[in-house]
Amino acid sequence: MMNKYDCIVIGAGPAGISACIYLQRSKLKVLLIEKNVPGGRMLQATEISNYAGLNDSGVNIANQMFSMLDLSKIDFVVEEVTNVSKEDTIKVTTNYNEYYCDKLIIATGFVNKIIPNSNEEKFVGSGISYCALCDAPLVKNKTILAYANSKKSINEIKYLSTLADKVYLLTNQDVESTEKLVILKNAKIKEFIGNFKLEKVRIEHNEKEEILDVSMAFIYNGYIPGTNFIKELNITNSFGLIEINERYETKIENIYAIGDVNTKEVKQVATAVGDGAYVASIILR
Ligand SMILES: Cc1cc2nc3c(=O)[nH]c(=O)nc-3n(C[C@H](O)[C@H](O)[C@H](O)COP(=O)(O)OP(=O)(O)OC[C@H]3O[C@@H](n4cnc5c(N)ncnc54)[C@H](O)[C@@H]3O)c2cc1C
Repeated sequence: MMNKYDCIVIGAGPAGISACIYLQRSKLKVLLIEKNVPGGRMLQATEISNYAGLNDSGVNIANQMFSMLDLSKIDFVVEEVTNVSKEDTIKVTTNYNEYYCDKLIIATGFVNKIIPNSNEEKFVGSGISYCALCDAPLVKNKTILAYANSKKSINEIKYLSTLADKVYLLTNQDVESTEKLVILKNAKIKEFIGNFKLEKVRIEHNEKEEILDVSMAFIYNGYIPGTNFIKELNITNSFGLIEINERYETKIENIYAIGDVNTKEVKQVATAVGDGAYVASIILR
C-alpha cells in the first residue's frame, strides 16, 4: 500500500520529537507529520530553565531536540493533519496526502484559539504572529495591531511599541496609551483582510466598525487542545483533551496520545519528553 507506515507521529513538539528519537533506532518505518516549524509551544518560551541539562531559549532547545532526528531514518513532512479514521488500518489525512499506519501517536499539544469567521488562519505566517518576542525584529517601521489581555502578553506588546511606528492594542485591561501605543478598550476583531499578506483589520469599537491599516497582527487569544481533527474518533473529554490509560493508550487500539494533548495533569517539556520516550519504548517492545 502506498504511504503505509509502521508508525505515524503527529506533532513535532517535544513529545513527538522524543518519541521519534527512540523510534528512529528501530527498523520500523516511521513518519513524523508537523504543520508548522518543529518545536511546538517551546518556540514561544523566552527561556526554559526547568528542563534537566539545558537552560536556554525555547527556540534553541527546540532546534537542539529536532537536530537529534536522523531524517535518513524517519520520514518528515510539513503538512496539517485534518482527519484520522480507523477501519482495518489507521488512515491519516492531511491537507496534501493520505497516509496509513499500524500505530499512531498523537502529540499535537495545544493550538492557538482562532477568532471565529475572521480569516485568521489565512494570514498565519503572512502577517499574523502569536509570538511578539520571536517576531519583534519584523515590526520595525510598521503599524501593527495586537490583541492581548494578560499582564505578560500586554508587556510584550508594550515592548513592540518601542520598535514599531504605531501599535493598536485591543484589550479588556486598563492600559495607558502612549505616543505610539493606541489602546482600543474592549474592541473586537471582526475580519483580517489582505490579498496575500495582511493589509487591514476590521474591528468593532464602541459599537462602530472601523478598518485599520496594519501590516502585522499579534494575537494572544489563548489555547485549546489540538484535537479538532480527531472529533470523529470520540476519544476526547469535554475539554478536548485525549483520554488515556496508564500506558498512554486511547480507547482505540494502537492509537496513543502523549504530551500536553492528553489528560495528564502536568504539562511541561520534561513530561512531554518522558511521554514520548515511554510510548515509543512500549511500541518497540
Ligand atoms: C510561553 C510559554 C512558555 C513555556 N515555558 C515553559 C517552561 O519554561 N518549561 C516547561 O517545561 N514548559 C514550558 N511551556 C510548556 C511547554 O512548551 C509544553 O508543555 C510543551 O511544549 C508540550 O509539548 P507537546 O509536544 O506535548 O506539544 P506542543 O509543544 O504543543 O507541540 C505540538 C505540535 O503539534 C503540531 N500540531 C498540532 N496540530 C497539528 C495537526 N493537525 N497536524 C500537524 N501538526 C500539528 C503543532 O504545530 C506543534 O508543533 C511553555 C509554554 C508556553 C506557551
